[in-house]
Amino acid sequence: MSKKITGIAASDGYAHAKVYRLIEPDLTVEKIKVEDPKAEIERLNRAIAESQTEIERIREIAVESLGEEEAQVFDAHAMILADPEMAEQVEEAINNEGINAEAAYEEVTNNFVTLFEAMEDNPYMQERAADILDVRKRVLASLLGVDLPNPSTINEEVVIVAHDLTPSDTAQLNKDFVKAFVTNIGGRTSHSAIMARSLEIPAIVGTGNISKEVSNGEMVIVDGIEGEVVIDPSEEDVTTYNKKADEFAELKAEWEKLKDEPTVTADGKQLELAGNIGTPRDLEAVLDHGGEAVGLYRTEFLYMDSQELPTEDEQYEAYKEVLEGMNGQSVVVRTMDIGGDKELPYLDLPDEMNPFLGYRAIRISLDQDEIFRTQLRALLRASVHGNLRIMFPMIATLQEFRDAKAIYEEEKEKLQNEGVEVSESIQVGIMVEIPAAAVLADQFAKEVDFFSLGTNDLIQYSMAADRMNEQVSYLYQPYNPSILRLIKNVIDAAHAEGKWAGMCGEVAGDQTAVPLLVGMGLDEFSMSATSILKTRSLMKRLDSSKMEELADKALNEATSNEEVMALVEEYTKE
Ligand code: PEP
Ligand code: MG
Repeated sequence: MSKKITGIAASDGYAHAKVYRLIEPDLTVEKIKVEDPKAEIERLNRAIAESQTEIERIREIAVESLGEEEAQVFDAHAMILADPEMAEQVEEAINNEGINAEAAYEEVTNNFVTLFEAMEDNPYMQERAADILDVRKRVLASLLGVDLPNPSTINEEVVIVAHDLTPSDTAQLNKDFVKAFVTNIGGRTSHSAIMARSLEIPAIVGTGNISKEVSNGEMVIVDGIEGEVVIDPSEEDVTTYNKKADEFAELKAEWEKLKDEPTVTADGKQLELAGNIGTPRDLEAVLDHGGEAVGLYRTEFLYMDSQELPTEDEQYEAYKEVLEGMNGQSVVVRTMDIGGDKELPYLDLPDEMNPFLGYRAIRISLDQDEIFRTQLRALLRASVHGNLRIMFPMIATLQEFRDAKAIYEEEKEKLQNEGVEVSESIQVGIMVEIPAAAVLADQFAKEVDFFSLGTNDLIQYSMAADRMNEQVSYLYQPYNPSILRLIKNVIDAAHAEGKWAGMCGEVAGDQTAVPLLVGMGLDEFSMSATSILKTRSLMKRLDSSKMEELADKALNEATSNEEVMALVEEYTKE
């Protein structure tokens, strides 16, 4: 009997494949006294040998599916496993304390991890601490007789099922084999969902308990449009799935025809449709889907994909590649937005009670300004290769913007004094994602060149509802008049000063929000590449003056998210 589970639809599309559970098993160790230490040492050596073979196997597959560079981490793991000093200490602990192999291994590796983690000025050794923990998992799993998931060894079509996926887990998934993913937690704007859209993999998040419902190898259908997983589908389910997948493919083919068309409403109002990217590799999808610009380049992935801070030259190359790739079309680069759910192990950020409200983004950049200056220099040098716009994330106060801008001006002057050519037409703007900035938009508009509304955070902060927490996902209400009024305030403030206002949060590509945003006068819409063409298709059908009337009603008469949805439906009926 098939069974249905629903969650939050996070990325369009359909998939039908086997489950691959990316779930960490329980590796809790109990310390027990043993009669025969020699037998424990033998168990330990067998576990180490088994782990060694396993790592070699994973490495080989990882080279094939992800490339040599990504696979190198397994060399470090093999070295740790073979480390004679560590093995000697574990044997000593077994012999001297008369304890079981798993407890001795845990104890000794803990000592190494504590030692390495304390080396604050040696990020290389700090990373080795993370490697030891990884290796330990493998050895303990072998001693305890449980299986560990190895996502880099996936070499057949699967649907990944996980409690959650971090952005770096998501980045390691091989798109050729991973046909969809489904998680227990997360919301539409959690970064794993955003990554799924940029990878064009269907995804469902926030199902609550999918990981408990499915076992490895079980067949599932994923409907990323309705947010539905069908476990062990019947023949009839598969027929329905095939039909829907075909219809979706046809719709996509229709949208495809609009790839080189301009973005204009039915009454001729010109709008700009841009794409969001995380790495230069994502540019191809933006161009393939007819993007006219890049409205958000999330540069933090450059920092997250690396084992240490990317150098000025490495950053310069990445920015240049994107600017050149866009051929003179504008590229909005956001400076590093680390923090929240985007961690950076080598920066050694403190553990916080509320990371989304903590030390992150521009707050780190202003505090550790050497990191910020390196990024700005790389951007300024790259500016001659295209049409660059720089944007600061998480701005709450005008002072933060002024401080960031002053550092930018200093670096620009320094470079010019060194004889380095810098574009004179770089615009410098801010993300509006903190309600304080949205409310004070009229003051900001006098000093910034543009605004880009970051609704993913703007909604979470306005509603005080964590964007990662599915239990409060009902408060993700993009059409709530309170949110619409903040958005309208920002757009009007920009226009009053002759500036432009865009949006790079997920709402920009939301088909219910687009008519409202057109009516409110938003200039630029930046979204996941896969949403661009369907949005162009929708915009072509809208009459902008009718949408103004719709927006006016939504802003002034509606009292809830639902009422606004009903208004949109009424105003967009054919
Ligand atoms: C946003 O907050 O809307 C945004 C675009 O930034 P991010 O999703 O990276 O926080
Ligand atoms: Mg944000």
